[in-house]
Order: sequence, then structure tokens, then C-alpha cells
Amino acid sequence: MTAVLQSHVQGRWQAPTGEGRPMYDAVTGDEVGRVSTDGIDVAAAAAYGRRTGGPALRELSFHQRASLLKALAGHLREHREELYAVSARTGATLGDSKFDVDGGIGVLQAYASKGKRELPAGSVLVEGDVEPLSKGGTFLGQHVLTPRHGVAVQINAYNFPCWGPLEKLAPAFLAGVPTIIKPATPTAFLTAELVRLVVESGLLPEGAVQFLAGSLTSSSGGDLFDHLTEQDLVSFTGSASTAARLRTHPTLTARSVRFTAEADSLNCSILGPDAVPGTTEFDLYVKQLATEMTVKAGQKCTAIRRAFVPSAQVDAVLEAVSARLAKVTVGNPANPDVRMGALAGTEQREEVRRSLKSLTDAGRVVFGDPDHVEVVDADAERGAFLSPVLLTGDPDTAAFHEVEAFGPVSTVLPYESVDQVVELAARGQGSLVGSVVTADPDVARTVVLGAAPWHGRMLVLDAAAAPESTGHGSPMPQLVHGGPGRAGGGEEMGGIRGVAHHMQRTAVQGSPAMLTAITGRWVRGSERTVTDVHPFRKHLEELRIGDTVVGGPRRVTQEDVEHFAEFTGDTFYAHTDAEAAAANPFFGERVAHGYLVVSFAAGLFVDPAPGPVLANFGVDSLRFLTPVKFDDELTITLTAKQITPRDTADYGEVRWDADVTNAAGDSVARYDVLTLVAKQASS
Ligand code: NDP
Repeated sequence: MTAVLQSHVQGRWQAPTGEGRPMYDAVTGDEVGRVSTDGIDVAAAAAYGRRTGGPALRELSFHQRASLLKALAGHLREHREELYAVSARTGATLGDSKFDVDGGIGVLQAYASKGKRELPAGSVLVEGDVEPLSKGGTFLGQHVLTPRHGVAVQINAYNFPCWGPLEKLAPAFLAGVPTIIKPATPTAFLTAELVRLVVESGLLPEGAVQFLAGSLTSSSGGDLFDHLTEQDLVSFTGSASTAARLRTHPTLTARSVRFTAEADSLNCSILGPDAVPGTTEFDLYVKQLATEMTVKAGQKCTAIRRAFVPSAQVDAVLEAVSARLAKVTVGNPANPDVRMGALAGTEQREEVRRSLKSLTDAGRVVFGDPDHVEVVDADAERGAFLSPVLLTGDPDTAAFHEVEAFGPVSTVLPYESVDQVVELAARGQGSLVGSVVTADPDVARTVVLGAAPWHGRMLVLDAAAAPESTGHGSPMPQLVHGGPGRAGGGEEMGGIRGVAHHMQRTAVQGSPAMLTAITGRWVRGSERTVTDVHPFRKHLEELRIGDTVVGGPRRVTQEDVEHFAEFTGDTFYAHTDAEAAAANPFFGERVAHGYLVVSFAAGLFVDPAPGPVLANFGVDSLRFLTPVKFDDELTITLTAKQITPRDTADYGEVRWDADVTNAAGDSVARYDVLTLVAKQASS
């Protein structure tokens, strides 16, 4: 008997007591190992995550966690050849393995860099603007997000044994929530290798990542779901039927455990009416369809299952795609000539053949044979090999919109009009992704806006986007991955949205000073501290939120405005033509340029000598609130609003609240000034 995988729980590798379920080499059919969680205390694992992993993660700031993700990505990159070697046994070609392994590492890197760039110092995420709740400005609201004090139970599908766990881990980790990885049985041996590398890296805090190699129900720990709490989360990828079963688990319902599912869907790709044979878009469509059918042997939740084509082009598309598929060598991924490997296992192949039976009953096979395939360097039946199968049929047949054959299978379906194809796309009842290949912006708009409510992501492919397009089948860490309805109704990744998913959003109400104290971000109405030392002379460590400089007053004269108009070339009539300005509904007379106001404000607040302020890298939220008339007097009040040190640089970012007022005390302009300020040690 082959070895049973160990689980990594409560800080150590633990061997289960049971014999477990076998896993097979997808290419040879040989048993490669077994999985079991018998004897593993799954409830204790969850408790350990909450007790040890959670507090350790919450000790770290967003930026520290981001640095760890970056380091982990580097470690995995160094060892990726080890993962490719094991990945080949899941039936993956080298290209497939890179998609899985490098794709997963890419998600870690993307979250590391987003964490540093988009998340604040500390570990509280302040979301959106302050909401005024009272006339006098003494009572305000602010949404804040704090890490949940639970564990993220991450249930993965068999088709992406590396990317799947990593795309779930990255946002949870950045949020400060510990992870329990549960791999799918057929490819758990590859996820185990991944976790071995993660553990050996020694980079992550104790308890931040645990690994349960087998069922979540064990002989000694019971059903993990029975032990979940209101602070825990479950992220599931797999079949719609398992998702439906898990989401109604009594504990999940009773304790409102946050549950998100990403399930199989019947994604579509639409060829625009303009994209006739001979156009670049036609070729792009054909290439994309053949690629999506054969990458990972079609075992991608994002693969194209329904290919909608104008009825006049169906024959041309079938012919061109078939010609491409005919060139796809199927077989042992170790052979460099092989373009498509095996499915994850013979059980999965039988499942695909069952689904194919429904599809072939409903339509016509144009390419491939569900029961026979020529393979190189392997035994077609012992290994889980399957030919690509291209079908066609009547678009009104329900099976094409309902039956997903999770392999190298796609159906070309004719349509007559753009409106009809939008309606056909929706018959998938919710998909992860749809694409439209067209050079016509009207077609793109009608299809995307019409089909968007049924899709989590939509790709528009044309000659302009093609050279750099990441493709129909690649979920991007910056963008949401998930879809409505049949696709599970969940959202994963989506940049910082995925981090926020692991946090609790709380609407905090109170006075400006209280919101400042709680969020660490200065709120207008809080105390300002005008000190003897100009804030621009303070290093990052010396600066405090609320530190303020007041500059002015400065009179704005007609000569100033005319000089500015002539100097910059901005001779817009409201500044230069008294008669035209008088007719303007907002001004009634000539007014100063907004940019002149902002420039004068800079002149009033700046401290000119070289010092800790290194650069001004922009302004945010600039609004001109009151027109500035000739001879108005301007005063600027600049207040340190948010201080964000950068871990890996000898400077940090300081956001300043800028309020320019006139002689009557009314705000004429408000904005945030963004600067880079040196740390003390650096100068
Ligand atoms: P399943 O839904 O059976 O399994 C998905 C995951 O859920 C696996 O980790 C599985 O573990 C786990 N699981 C199953 N039952 C339970 C349970 N009662 N409690 C906790 N965890 C559970 O999907 P399959 O992997 O068998 O794939 C079946 C179909 O799902 C495919 O043919 C395809 O149509 C679709 N699919 C969709 C994917 C997507 O990305 N959207 C990816 C892969 C498949 P274990 O393996 O140990 O049973």
C-alpha cells in the first residue's frame, strides 16, 4: 500500500490512523498515495488556527503580511521545478503546470504588491469617505474593516492543486485570517508538496496555514463544520451540488458562517457578426476556443463550454477549430511533443463521458471520439486520456446550457441576432466568464451590458487587445473571480475586495475626534496642532496626525489672474472676459482659476528649504467649492491626515488635508495633498 499523506495541523505534521482513499497517477493509473484525516482532530485544528494563527497574524500590519507573501512567492518560485515534477503526475503538461504553479505564485505577488500600495499602515482598513450625519459636523460615520477572529476553511477543487489554494490563501492572509487548506482528494499529493514548501520556508507565523489532507469529517474530530463559529469563513470551489449541500449545513446557517462558492459553469464565448472568416477576430476566436478546450485538458472552471457563432459562420468555425484540434498531440506530458495531457483521473474521465453522453444525444460530434484517443508514450485507458470533443447542435436544446462536461469539450451553437445571443448566454443560469470576439463597439456594448448580469467577468477580444490579452480562461487577482447563480454566487480575489471579504465591516459613528482616534486617520473637525516647527521640517517618525500649518492670507488680484492666464495659456472666458463671465450661471463676474488657487495655496504652505519632504506625488479629491473673485483673500490650512511608512523604503507617504478658505471663512477648495517624507535614519 502507498503512504497516506500527513496533515499539517497544530504546528506539526501528523499521520492519520486510517488507510485512507487512494490517489492515482493520471498518466499511468498507478496509485501514488492515499488520503485520510482519521485520527486527526479537525476541530482542534480550527481552534488552533483561531487561538494561535489569528493572534499572530493580527500582530502584523498589512504591510508586514504583504512582505511575507512576497517572500513566500520568492521561495515557491525557487522551488517550482519540484512542483512541476509532481504536477506531471496529475496529467498536466509543463504549460499546464506553469498555469497552475506560476499562476498561484503570481497571485501571491499581486496581493503582496497590492497590500503595500493600497492598504494603509496598521491593520484597520478604513473604507470610503467619512459620512456626515449631522448639520454641525460633530456627528459622523465611517466604515472600518477589522480582521475576523476565525479561520478560513478553504475547500479546493482537483483541477488547480496549487493555484486554487494560493488564490484563497493570499487575501485571507493579507486580511489577517488563518487558513485551513483542504485539497481535493484526486490531486491532494500535489497540494501536499506545495504545503511542504510553505511550511519549510518558515516564513509564515505559527498557525497561519494548516493543511487537512482528507475529509473534513474525521474519526476523532467529528465534522469540522459542526465546530465552525460565527467568525469563521468557508471558501469552496467544486461542483454546484456539493456547494448546495455545504451551504445549507445547519451550523453554517445557525451561526451565519460566511460561505462563498465558486462552482462549475457553462461559460460562453460569442463570435461577433462582424468577425467573418478572413478577419483577425475570426482567427482569434478559433484559436481561443481550441486553446480553452485543451489547456489543462479542458478541466478549467472558466473553459468555454458554449461557443455561440452567427449561423452563417458555423461551418467555417467548426472546420477551423477541428483543424487546430487535429494538431493537438495527446499523451504523456513528459513527452515534449505532447500538447494535451490527461484528465485528473479515470473517475473524472468517466464523469466526463457520462456528461458527454447527454451532449452527444442532444447534438452532433464534429471532432473527436469520446471513447477513443490516440496517445503517445502512454496507455490510453490506464491513463485518464480523452480526445478533445467538439460538438454542434440546436441552441434551443436544454442540455447544451445545463450539462457541463468537465474536460476538453465544447459545443458550437448558432445564433441569428445579437439580441438572441444575449438571451442564449443567460440560459447558462450564471457563469464565471463570458467572452465576445468582435471589432464592433456596438456589438461589444450590447453583448457585455446584456449578458453582464449573468457573468462575473467578461472579456472583449479584438485585434487591439489580443497581443496583451490574458485570455478568456485566466482569472486575474486584480479582478473578481466568481459568478452568479450556477457559478456559485460567490466572488474571490478582486484585488482588495478579496481581503475585505475576510474582514468585518463595521459602521462606526461618533465625533470627529473619536473617529480620528479609532481609525488613525485625521477627520475634519478633530483638533489641529499648530506647532512652532513647520510640519515639513519633521521626519516621518516625528510627524503626528493633526499637525497643521496655516498659511496666508494672500490677496488674489486681477493682475494675478491675468498673469496666470497669459503665462499658462488658460484664457478661459470666466477668467478673462468680463461680459461673458457675467452671463455664466455660476460666476456672474470674472473669477480666479482653480489651479491658481491651488498654486497659491502651495506657495502659502510650503517650507522651501531642503528637508524631510522629498516629493509631492499628487492630489486626491480636489474640489473647487466657492468661486474666488478678484481681491478675495486666501488662507490655507494643511493638516497631516494619514501617515503610511513604507517597510522597505527610507521614506513613507503622508496625506495632508488641504482646506483653502476665503476672507469669509468659506472653503473655496478642498483636497488631499500626497507627499513622500523621509524617515529619520535616512538623513
Ligand atoms: P466536488 O464538489 O465533489 O469536490 C470539491 C471539493 O469539495 C473537494 O475538495 C472535495 O473533497 C470537497 N468535498 C466534497 N464533499 C464534501 C463535504 N461533504 N464536505 C466538505 N468537503 C467536501 O467536486 P469534484 O472535485 O468531484 O468535481 C466534480 C465536478 O465539479 C467537476 O466534474 C466539475 O463539473 C466541477 N468542478 C468545478 C470546478 C470549478 O473550479 N468551479 C473545479 C473542479 C470541478 P474530496 O475530493 O476529498 O471529496
